[in-house]
Amino acid sequence: MVLKDKRVLVVGLARTGVSVAKFLRCKGAHVIITDLKPSNELTSFMDELRGLDIEFQLGGHEIDTFKRVDSIVVSPGVPLDIMPIKEAQKNSIEIMGEVELAYRFINTPIIAVTGTNGKTTTTAIISEMLKASGYKVYVGGNIGSPLIDYASSSQDKDYVVAEISSFQLDGIRTFRPKIGLLLNITEDHLDRYPGLLDYAQSKSRIFMNQTPEDVAILNKDDPLVMEIGKAVPGKRIYFSTRQELQEGTYIRGKYIVFKNGQGGEELFDITKLKIIGTHNHENVMSAILTTKLCKCAHESIVRTLEAFQGLEHRLEFVRTLNGVTFYNDSKGTNVGSVIKSLGSFTHPIILIAGGKDKGGDFSLLRELVKEKVKLLILLGEAKEKISRSLRDLVPDIMVHSLEEAVKVAYNLAKSGDIVLFSPACSSFDMFQDYKERGDVFKKAVRDL
Ligand code: ADP
Repeated sequence: MVLKDKRVLVVGLARTGVSVAKFLRCKGAHVIITDLKPSNELTSFMDELRGLDIEFQLGGHEIDTFKRVDSIVVSPGVPLDIMPIKEAQKNSIEIMGEVELAYRFINTPIIAVTGTNGKTTTTAIISEMLKASGYKVYVGGNIGSPLIDYASSSQDKDYVVAEISSFQLDGIRTFRPKIGLLLNITEDHLDRYPGLLDYAQSKSRIFMNQTPEDVAILNKDDPLVMEIGKAVPGKRIYFSTRQELQEGTYIRGKYIVFKNGQGGEELFDITKLKIIGTHNHENVMSAILTTKLCKCAHESIVRTLEAFQGLEHRLEFVRTLNGVTFYNDSKGTNVGSVIKSLGSFTHPIILIAGGKDKGGDFSLLRELVKEKVKLLILLGEAKEKISRSLRDLVPDIMVHSLEEAVKVAYNLAKSGDIVLFSPACSSFDMFQDYKERGDVFKKAVRDL
């Protein structure tokens, strides 16, 4: 892709927009940045670009600009169906996301991880395993730094491990990972996609440019993933917690078995994992498949798994107080992840949930709530909707803050109970993001 002297419009001025603009300027493009926010809300980002001779169109989009540039690069937070972008499409302007732009300039093999849940955890496990085997790794995408930062660098790594969201996949054209992982597909982001199938379609794009030399790692137990798998052009390799496979990873007793298709088997004892839940077995199994393909040594894989503590805000143990154990799962922002979190415990659960609804169907929680939850504590915009879906099964209490939720939960808990904060919603009704929400929860628990 030739950028020199091309007019490129960057839509969205935040962290990624800044990196994209710097990259484009470095390549000699004429850069215009537009954002709906006015300049006084974007000063820190503008400061980073000072002196780079960039044109700003802030506080709204100028449709004429969208029609008159050579290319448009859209930041991940900006939907691709906004009117000015549609107008540009009508004018045959090339439109791409930051991942696509970065991909066109990256020469290192890419491992890309997508799925509704488990992306960050799996990306982290894969990169730890690769590093333990002596490889140099860049971890980026939806986690850490944008991929464009790697494209701008000296590119001295052996692998790029990229966490890729569905929004990022919507903006790709030629992006082709050497290894692509699709972990699972359950309902999410129905506030941005018309339906589950549109969302699944977006996830399937991770494989669309692969060739038979590339590999697709797929979850055998997930019907939507398997449906998408039928049309995958790359070699398909599976993982399953439910059935034994001719080739792939699966569970036998307390072991994960890796079978390489030539009869070879290697085993890992799952009781040695520090992270809990069958969903983490899935993450681990997909990571083993990936790193075996990269020829990582079995000992490095085992060592990494035994040491991996899990990530903050994902089923994170907080403390046990008078027999009551608290878990922070603030990143449980959709129904599918809460199902997995509930399934990870055998003790009675007091579930704290609620936040900003993304169009989730909370009745999917009914079976597990009936089986495992003794009390629901609900907060945020979605509390009434969650209550309507579940109140015939289990008592619920409405609260106004997370601090209040923690106090109520603790007062009503008995020794042996689990208090699980797994909201099934995003955080933006009351918090800046899931991290702030998780920190508030943990502080409230520590203050008890
Ligand atoms: P993502 O990056 O896809 O959001 P994370 O690894 O950050 O995934 O985990 C998000 C939430 O999903 C957490 O609540 C976590 O416990 C849960 N989770 C992790 N892995 C899986 C999985 N394979 N299937 C379902 N839920 C998962």
